[in-house]
Amino acid sequence: MADPTESESRKLLGRLREALAEDSAGQARLDRVTQLIASSMSTEVCSIYLFRDEETLELCATEGLNPDAVHETRMRLGEGLVGRVARTGKVINTADAPSTRGFRFMPETGEEVFSSFCGVPIQRLGERLGVLVVQSKEARIFFEDEVYALEVVAMVLAEMTELGAFVGEGEALRARHTLPALFRGGVGQEGVAEGYVWLHEPRVVVANPIADDPEIETRRLREAVDKLRMSVDDMLSSVSDETADTDQREVMEAYKMFANSRSWLRRMEEDIGAGLSAEAAVEKEQSAARTRMSQVPDAYLRERLHDLDDLSNRLLRILTGQGKDTGAEMPDKAILVARNIGPAELLDYGRERLKGIVLEQGSVGSHAAIVARAWAIPLIIHAEKVTSEALNGDHVMVDGDQGLVHLRPDDTVVSAFRDKIAMQAKAQERYSGIKSLPAQTKCGSVVGLHMNAGLIADLPSLESSGAEGVGLFRTELQFLIRSKVPRRGELAAIYSRVLDAANSKPVVFRTLDIGSDKVLPYMKREEEPNPALGWRAIRVGLDKPGVMRMQLQALIRAANGRPLTVMFPFVAQFDEFKAAREQVLTELDNEKKLGHTLPENVKVGAMLETPSLAFAPTQFFEMADFISIGGNDLKQFFFAADRENERVRRRYDTLNVSFLTFIEQIVERCAATNTPVSFCGEDAGRPIEAMCFAAMGLRSLSMRPASIGPVKHLLRRVNLDDAKAMIDASRASGVQSVRGDVMEWLRTEVERG
Ligand code: PEP
Ligand code: MG
Repeated sequence: MADPTESESRKLLGRLREALAEDSAGQARLDRVTQLIASSMSTEVCSIYLFRDEETLELCATEGLNPDAVHETRMRLGEGLVGRVARTGKVINTADAPSTRGFRFMPETGEEVFSSFCGVPIQRLGERLGVLVVQSKEARIFFEDEVYALEVVAMVLAEMTELGAFVGEGEALRARHTLPALFRGGVGQEGVAEGYVWLHEPRVVVANPIADDPEIETRRLREAVDKLRMSVDDMLSSVSDETADTDQREVMEAYKMFANSRSWLRRMEEDIGAGLSAEAAVEKEQSAARTRMSQVPDAYLRERLHDLDDLSNRLLRILTGQGKDTGAEMPDKAILVARNIGPAELLDYGRERLKGIVLEQGSVGSHAAIVARAWAIPLIIHAEKVTSEALNGDHVMVDGDQGLVHLRPDDTVVSAFRDKIAMQAKAQERYSGIKSLPAQTKCGSVVGLHMNAGLIADLPSLESSGAEGVGLFRTELQFLIRSKVPRRGELAAIYSRVLDAANSKPVVFRTLDIGSDKVLPYMKREEEPNPALGWRAIRVGLDKPGVMRMQLQALIRAANGRPLTVMFPFVAQFDEFKAAREQVLTELDNEKKLGHTLPENVKVGAMLETPSLAFAPTQFFEMADFISIGGNDLKQFFFAADRENERVRRRYDTLNVSFLTFIEQIVERCAATNTPVSFCGEDAGRPIEAMCFAAMGLRSLSMRPASIGPVKHLLRRVNLDDAKAMIDASRASGVQSVRGDVMEWLRTEVERG
C-alpha cells in the first residue's frame, strides 16, 4: 500500500479539488470522492456516511461496498462503529473490526469480508456532519499519516458539505441551511414574533479549503498570526494599568500565551503542508479543540480551550476578511440568534432593533432575560444548535409561549403562526380596555400594579400599560450600557427625566445592584468562587461608598423638591440597612449645605432578597419606610437553587407551599409594624402567581409593563377571600405546590364568571 506522505495527501487533495470543481451533480461528486480516496489510499473500501437527521446516519456514497446499499443503510447515532465515531468525534482505527466493541453486522453492505476499519468524523467546528470510512481485507492498523490524511480530507468534505457541494437528488443530500427546521427550547419570555435571523456572531465561510501552493498559504497564515499577536498585545496594554480588572488581564495573558504557542502554529502549518488552505487549517485545529472542549471535565481547562476557540475565530476573521462586522445590514425585523449574550451586549442592540431573541444557552433568571422582558420581546433559551443551522437573513418565527423556533417555516406554519399573532393582538385590545380601571377584585380589595423599569426606553410604558408608578427602577442598567462610570450630572438628568415622565406617580429607585451576573466591564472585580453569594449590591455600596454617594446626590438633585423614594438591594441584616440609610441622611445634609433644594419627602426602603432579613429584629421593620420583596433572588436563596441554572431553577415552583407560606409570614411581619410591602420579582408578572400573592395579603406588585394587563384582567375576576380559603385547604392537604388546586379552582371560578 502507498504511504501517503504529506505530498501524497496534497496530491489527493489536488485531485479531490478537480473532482469537486467538475460540473456534476452532488451524488456524482460524492461517488467520485470515494473512488479517489480508495484508489489513492489503496484500500478496497471508502464510504461516506452523512447525517440524515439528528440521530440517523445514512450511507451516501461508497466505493467497494454493495452500491445498492447507498441511501438504504442507516444507523442510529452511537450504533455500530460508524455510529460510535459520529457520537464520540473520535477516530476508530482497528485491524479486526468484527471483534471491536460496538461492531454491527450489516449484511446488505457485504462488509463482513473486510477486517480493517478506519473511521474519522466529518465535523465542522464541533458540529457533526458524518463519518468517512476506509476498510481493507488485509488485517492492519492504518498508519498515523494515513489517518491524518483522512482527517484532512474529512475536513474538506465538511467544508464542501457546508457549501452545498453535494446537494442533489436524494433527501440526505438536500442543501444545508435551506430546509425548514424546528427548535424546541425553554421559555425565557412569552410572546410571538416573526422576523429575520441576525446572528450575534456571524458564521465564517471558508470557500477555498484546498490550496496548491503551501508556501503562499504558510505566508498568509504567518501574516495573519502576526496581526493576531499584535491585536492581543494591544488588548493587553489597554488593560495593563493598575485599575484594570485582574480577570480581564488573566484572560488576555492566556490569549497571549496561545497566540504565541508554537505547537498551535506548527499544527496548522502541517495541515497546510497536507494541502489545506490557511483558513481550512485554522478551522481543522479549531474543530479538534471544540471536540476536546466538549470532553474535558475540568472547568479550568475547558475555559482555556474556549480561549483558543475565540482566538481561532479572530484568526479566521483576519484571514477571510469576514470581520464581526461583515458589512451585512441588520434586517428590519431582526430576531437575534446567539449562543449566549450578556445584558450589556444586549442593551447595545437597543430595543427598537430587535423583535425577538433565541439563545442556545441562557436562563430565565439572567439579567439578559430581564432586559428582554422589559422590552416585551419573546426570548427562547436552550434552543440547541440553532446557531449552526441559522443563517443571517433566514425567515424565522419565534413562539415564546411554547418555546418553539420555526426556522425557514413552510406555508402551513406561517399561516398558523400569523393567526396566533392576530389572537394575541386581540388579547392586547382587551387589556387596553381595562387600562384605566383599578385592579379591584370581586371582594373589593385593590391591588396596586406598578411597573419595573431601568431604561429611558421603558418610560412610554408608564402611560401605555396603565401602571400606577414605577415599583422598581433598576439603576444598574444605566451603568451597564456605558463604557465608563456615568457622571453625577448625567445620572441626575436621567433620573429627572424618569420623574418627569412619571408625572407625580411614585418611582422607587433602587441603588446600584451590581455583582453576580451584572458585571460592569470598567470596574475592578474581585475573583469570587460564588458571585451570586458574593460581593454584590449593597455590600459593594457600603464597602466602596464613592459610587453610592454619587448616586444618592444625583437622585436628590433630580428630585429637586419632588418626593424621592430610594431602596437598597440585597440587604441581609439590619445593620446594613441602618448604614445605608445613614448615608442617605448624610447626603441630604450635605446637599442642603451646598444649597440644593431637598426633596419634599424621602422614603428609604429595603429589598428583602435574602431569607435572613425576614427574621430581622422588629426595629428593622419599624425603621424601613417600605419593604420590597425581590422574589428572584429570594427564591434562589430560599430553595438554594441558582436562578440562572435551568436545571435546578425549574425544580421549585413559586407556588410551593413552603415559599408561599414564607411570603405570607413576611406580609404578616410587615403588617405588624404597618410597613408597606410589595413584590417586585418576575413572578409578580405571572397572573396566577400574582393572584396567589394577593391572596397571601400583598396589595402592591411591580412587574414588567406587558404583564400589567393580563394580571389585572385575572385579579378583576376573582374573589381573594375565596382564593385564600382554597389555598389554605390546599396547603392543609399536604401537597407540595398549590398550583394544581389553584388551576382547578380558577377553571371553575372564572368559568362561572
Ligand atoms: C429580585 O431579585 O427579585 C429583583 C427584583 O432584583 P434583580 O432581579 O434585579 O436581582
Ligand atoms: Mg435581586
